[in-house]
Amino acid sequence: MKVGIVGAGMVGSAAGYALALTGTAARVVLVDRNEKLALAQAQDIAHAVPFASSSVVEAGGYDALAGAGVVILAAGVGQKPGESRLDLLARNAAVFADVVAQVRAAAPEAILLVASNPVDIMTDITTRLSGLPPARVIGSGTILDTARFRSLLGAHLGISPQSVHAYVLGEHGDSEVLAWSNARVGSEPLASVAAQLGAPITADVRARVDAGVRRAAYTIIEGKGATWYGIGAGLARLVQAIAQDEQTVLSVSIRTAHVAGRRDVALSLPRVLGAAGVTASLHPALDPAETEALAASAAVLKETTEALDL
Ligand code: ADP
Repeated sequence: MKVGIVGAGMVGSAAGYALALTGTAARVVLVDRNEKLALAQAQDIAHAVPFASSSVVEAGGYDALAGAGVVILAAGVGQKPGESRLDLLARNAAVFADVVAQVRAAAPEAILLVASNPVDIMTDITTRLSGLPPARVIGSGTILDTARFRSLLGAHLGISPQSVHAYVLGEHGDSEVLAWSNARVGSEPLASVAAQLGAPITADVRARVDAGVRRAAYTIIEGKGATWYGIGAGLARLVQAIAQDEQTVLSVSIRTAHVAGRRDVALSLPRVLGAAGVTASLHPALDPAETEALAASAAVLKETTEALDL
């Protein structure tokens, strides 16, 4: 599959690198307002590829996106230290008005993967700007938060994160909801497995995991200015699910008709992802506190989106 990436900064190039090294995309095309940057990133990634796969990596203008099956939208401005994701909104919304129109004209068949933050709002904006059905405009959402949740739980239990089934729902950001009550290890409820292994989920453990998931991006931003490898690999995983028509369950953000008492709000739920985009959304059974927290997360996102005059 040919995969386009608009925005060849840290996130876009990390996604391109992951896609090329894993061979997930036969062809990767990088587009950026800064043409020299797009070319330099494409050449740098292309020089890594012979060690790993046979992907072709190139830079070009929007016309080079013709025939792409997926276009990743990673253009915009990065999050500054201390800046909330919602503060980024006004700056990135203006960039997307330009980018989405050009991508739609060049690659009308492409599924759009939104990476720019605040990702849920940018996904909603992209859905409206593109005129595409919500199933084909997919935000990376809480894919990384979910991975982090599983990895911290796995580390606590001494079990591979791949055997931990747990999701982070709602906003990719401060109001996100760690769905503890339905977390499972293998097919067993988390609390039961934790007790059997002598590693109970105490209030302290829960608080530490919660903070580890919620604060992960802030901690990395403090140390290196931004985050890119994790999200780059996450985006490549989403492309793989689409390119191979996997029907895999992943926590991604799309504009959802009815969720948590709100209509038409983009947020993350576990969703089935394949060649047609999102083919189903799963509404997990939550406890009352989580249900309330998801409603609050949906409300924050809905109010922010409505405040935008698009
Ligand atoms: P991040 O860390 O989110 O990747 P960067 O600043 O590294 O942030 O990358 C964002 C990229 O988006 C930059 O390379 C910038 O040139 C690009 N960009 C910004 N506005 C546009 C636009 N209108 N069209 C295409 N690319 C854009």
